Amino acid sequence: MIFQRSIKNEVSTVGVGLHSGEKVRIVLKPAKENSGIIFKRIDIKLPIEIKIEPKAVKETRLSSTIGKGKFKISTVEHLMSALSASGIDNILIEVDGSEIPIMDGSSISFVYLINSAVVCEQSKFKKFAVIKDVIKVEEGEKFAKFEPYKGFLVDFTIDFPHPAFKKENSRVEIDLFKESYVNNISRARTFGFMQEVEYLRSNGLARGGALDNAIVLDEYKILNNEGLRYSDEFVRHKILDAIGDLYMIGMPIIGKFTAYKSGHELNNRLLKALLEQKSKWAIEYLDLEDEQTSLLASNYIKDKNKFGIKGVDILQ
Ligand SMILES: [Zn+2]
Repeated sequence: MIFQRSIKNEVSTVGVGLHSGEKVRIVLKPAKENSGIIFKRIDIKLPIEIKIEPKAVKETRLSSTIGKGKFKISTVEHLMSALSASGIDNILIEVDGSEIPIMDGSSISFVYLINSAVVCEQSKFKKFAVIKDVIKVEEGEKFAKFEPYKGFLVDFTIDFPHPAFKKENSRVEIDLFKESYVNNISRARTFGFMQEVEYLRSNGLARGGALDNAIVLDEYKILNNEGLRYSDEFVRHKILDAIGDLYMIGMPIIGKFTAYKSGHELNNRLLKALLEQKSKWAIEYLDLEDEQTSLLASNYIKDKNKFGIKGVDILQ
């Protein structure tokens, strides 16, 4: 069986909020078995805790924003993506602002941060959401879909009518139980168009947005001097986002996720559809005695080892 994971030590980092432009500090703290992923706003008189679940997502226009009452925390998806890839089930994240810092626009800083805290195994079995039947949501030509698959296969296609988006770089298919998230996904940065950035700024948003935390495009080209980190960095970032959005379910998904021009909203709608269609998936533990799941689990464990988990380290 595979066990739940948390971190062993408390760690923190400071960065700028993409929209507020203000400095934000986040502190990651160990959490007990079955407590899940909890964000906590500590900059307000009575700190509030928001446990991640699909219905905690309140806004999806520019980023995935979670909230409770009038309090919100936006841009949680890149940190959620790093938590998913590091196999973290239980953690407390304290934030002294309304936004998770953007860092370099990717999730690599969060992967390092989590792993500097030392990922450790706990004493309860890890839960997996195993897809048994097709679940699909769509909006016009856009769609997001789950179907049964032994692994976590992501097949994502984007389509932007812009000269910098080449057809051959618009689709990526990757099985994250076999391929490394760190090497293939974690460094892909968020992107935005100059006209949008100007519009957002006139509305008091994107104040922290700059060429060192996003790929920025004008009508014709990429404005960042250093160019792209992967030739298909745009679609890889959409995968990074989707992994974070889908982890709002609080456990890894075993299945295939196919997306065509999907984004935060459709990803979240797919999770809500999953919760409604209970007969099409099940919560399971991975039984190492079954040959196929044993192979799957060994890939999973192998991938996690790349993140620096050495042996079994039970959280006290
Ligand atoms: Zn993103």
